[in-house]
This record gives sequence, structure tokens and C-alpha cells, in this order.
Amino acid sequence: MRLKVAIIGSGPAGYYTAEGLVKQFGDQVEIDIIDRLPTPFGLIRAGVAPDHQSIKGVTRRYEETQAAGDIRFFGNLQIGDAISIAELRELYHAVVLATGAPHDRPLGVPGDGLPGVIGAAAFVGWYNGHPDFVDLAPPLDTSAVAVIGNGNVAIDVARVLVKSPDEMAGSDLARHAAELIHASAIRDVYVFGRRSLLDVSFTPKEVGELAELTELTDAVPLVDPGQLPPDGAEAALDPGQRKVIGHLRSFALRRADEKPRRIHFVFCARPLRVLGEDRATGLELERTCVRDGQAVGTGETFTIDCGLVIPCIGYRTRSIAGVPFDNARGRFVNDEGLIEPGLYCVGWSRRGPSGTIGTNRPDGFAIAEKIAAAGLTGERAGRAGLGRLIEERDLWVVGFDDWKTIDAAEVARARIGAPREKFVRIEEMLAAAGRSG
Ligand code: NAP
Repeated sequence: MRLKVAIIGSGPAGYYTAEGLVKQFGDQVEIDIIDRLPTPFGLIRAGVAPDHQSIKGVTRRYEETQAAGDIRFFGNLQIGDAISIAELRELYHAVVLATGAPHDRPLGVPGDGLPGVIGAAAFVGWYNGHPDFVDLAPPLDTSAVAVIGNGNVAIDVARVLVKSPDEMAGSDLARHAAELIHASAIRDVYVFGRRSLLDVSFTPKEVGELAELTELTDAVPLVDPGQLPPDGAEAALDPGQRKVIGHLRSFALRRADEKPRRIHFVFCARPLRVLGEDRATGLELERTCVRDGQAVGTGETFTIDCGLVIPCIGYRTRSIAGVPFDNARGRFVNDEGLIEPGLYCVGWSRRGPSGTIGTNRPDGFAIAEKIAAAGLTGERAGRAGLGRLIEERDLWVVGFDDWKTIDAAEVARARIGAPREKFVRIEEMLAAAGRSG
């Protein structure tokens, strides 16, 4: 019996699971990787910052995986819509949800629904050319932006907002975003952390990203010296985190008038309310102190004027009909990746939005081991059955070779110095693949 596995989602978690399965089962496994977009690689394409091309290079590994086993890519196929989870579970011994966490966690303060409040999932998707967010049109006619959160996403967003066109020349920043960002009126980007400078979630491995901020052409990173912890306060932290803190301390030595744009890191400030009548015009915050690791309000408030608020406070998985969902945590209910016999989840849809790309490798391998240990038996129709459903329902599916055609077309139309110019609408992608009928 050959094992038949469907993996839903073609990002890192999906491809590492496929790699783990090939390692476990060799040619005794048939793997179908299904994605709702015609393009594979999930967050690598639509989440990793466009100016971090070396990180995006990890897709070469996924291409090797794709070639190593009996793996087929089915793009442009929405599970839960065109084909249900129940139908897939009939067809495959195991179905693995590797659907990531594509929705923003709500900020949960009055005014957070106003135009001009745009969560990081949407904003990052927009500048990365994700088809869901092409028409977002964020209000970049504002001189000030509030970025909320002290994680790696906040750093990415702040940096992309202030980098010069020359600094972004080697990136794959989507054209519509480049036009708006580089014509923007932005002068001040505030990055607000609700806890202290010692409690940031910027990871030591990404310390280069903080260093990069010190060398930007048009922008200077700033920390109010009054917010610095006492000398040596970070002594108990590990060396990597001490380096992060060292960079933040160095920002206190910079001057606001050094460059035309500024990134202000403001700590111990939590959002209370987005101000504005019919669009965001400002943010009210409360100063906090940290007690037992928690941000506690002091009652002292202040406001800033800003026309754009970007919460970078974490993500949620999209629920799927028929799959138990933990609404509080924004991920599938699971026990170490097992949802129900034959149904698994992996990556952010299993553990929530934590860790870096590499974290998904052991995660994917663990799910492959779990599937191996489950001793799944019986004959399943697998790919042949999926093919029949696709044909019966007249669905328009994109294969890996089609993706390679799209990929080549994007590379061919890149502006000088850039790796590619992405197609940002699904129709354009299908047309590039020669599939527009
Ligand atoms: P994150 O690292 O979990 O940081 C979230 C931040 O938002 C924290 O500072 C958190 O503060 C704050 N926050 C949460 N709820 C809040 C609220 N209601 N009000 C104010 N602040 C709030 O999340 P992320 O930056 O979205 O990153 C997600 C994952 O992707 C992380 O694992 C990250 O490392 C990874 N990532 C990696 C890279 C890279 O490797 N280059 C790039 C981007 C993302 P508290 O700490 O007080 O909770």
C-alpha cells in the first residue's frame, strides 16, 4: 500500500512536512500539496520582507523537495470552498493543514475598525503583492505612522516604510506599493511596545535588522534616553538578547535632525483608543510599567497624531468548516499536531504565530513521524480521486510547471536590479501560466 497524503498550504510548514514524509516513506508515499493561490511558498513569497532576498532563497530547498519525491502541487484550489475537508479525508490516508496564520489579531481598542487601521497581515501582504491585498490603498499621505508591537514584524514594517528607492532597488517590493511608499509624506514612524526595552521580542538572530536601521539613508532610529533601563539591567539576559538591547541603547545616542525621517522606539506604552471620526487621525496611549512580566497601566495617557496605525501584534489561523478551532488562540484544536485520526496540523496553524522559518522544519518532521507511527491502512483514491473531483467541478488548477512558467515571467519583467516583478492578481498569474483560456 502506498500512503496518500494531502498537505493544505505550500508554505514552509507544508514543504517541510513533505520533506519529512519523503524521508520517512521514500517512494511509498504520494503527496499532494494544495494551495488556494496559483503561486507556492506561502509566507516566503507574501510575508518575508521584500528586501530580505537571502531569506527568500530558502525556496530552492522546497524546489528540491518538490523534485525529490512523488509530490504534486495543486495551486489555485481553495479547500473548504471548491472541495471540502470531508471529501479530502475520504480520498487520503492523512490530511495535513499547513495553512499558516493569515489573519490579524484584532487590536481590541475603540476605533480599531476605522479606515487607516491596517493590521500587519494585510499591510505586509499589500507590499508583498499578495492578491488579497492589492487594492488596500493604505493612507500614506500621512506624516506619521504608529506601528504597534515589538516583534520582528514591526521592525520589517517600520524599515520598509522609510527605506529609500535606492535601498529597495534589489527587492521585490510590489510596484503598486513602491509607488505609494516612495511618494509618501511619512516623516515619523513610532514603534510602540507595551512593555519595556528589556522585554522586546526582536530575536537575536535578526539583530542585523536593528543594525541595518542605524545605516539607512533617509531615516534615523531613536530611543528617548529617559526610557533606557539602568546600566547592566540586561546582565541576566542571554548574550544574543543583550546584543539586541545594546542596539536599542545605541539609538538613544542618535539625533532627531540627522535624517529627514525618524523611527521612534517608544516603550511602556499601550494603545487605548484610535482617534478619528471617519478615519484614523491619531492614537491615544497609556504609559505602563512592567510588573511580574506584565504591562500594567499607570493611568498617565498621551496622544500622537497619525493617519495610519499598523498593529503588528500577531496573527490568527483561518478556520475551516468541520475542523475544531480554538477561537481564543486563533488556531486549530490539536494535540501535538493531531486534530482527529487522519487529520493533522503543522506550523503556525498548529502552534500559533511563533518562531522563524526554520522552526517549521522540526515541526514538519514531527508530523511526518506521527503519520508514520499511526499505521494508517486501507486503499485510498488519493491523487486520482482528487483529479476526478477537479474535472467534475471544472476547477482551474495550476501545477508546479505552471508555477515555473509564472516564475520565469515575473523574473523576465523585473525592473533593473530587482529579482522579479510579481503578478499581483490571480487572473494575471493564470494568464502568465497560459491558462486564461
Ligand atoms: P511577536 O514576535 O509575537 O511580537 C508581537 C508583539 O506584539 C509583542 O511585542 C507583543 O507584546 C505585542 N502585542 C501583542 N498584543 C498586543 C496588544 N494587544 N497591544 C500591544 N502590543 C501587543 O509577533 P510578530 O512580530 O508578529 O512575529 C510573528 C512571528 O514571526 C514571530 O515568531 C517572529 O519572530 C516571526 N518573524 C520572523 C522574522 C524574521 O525572522 N526575520 C520576520 C518577521 C516575523 P508582548 O511581548 O508584551 O506580548
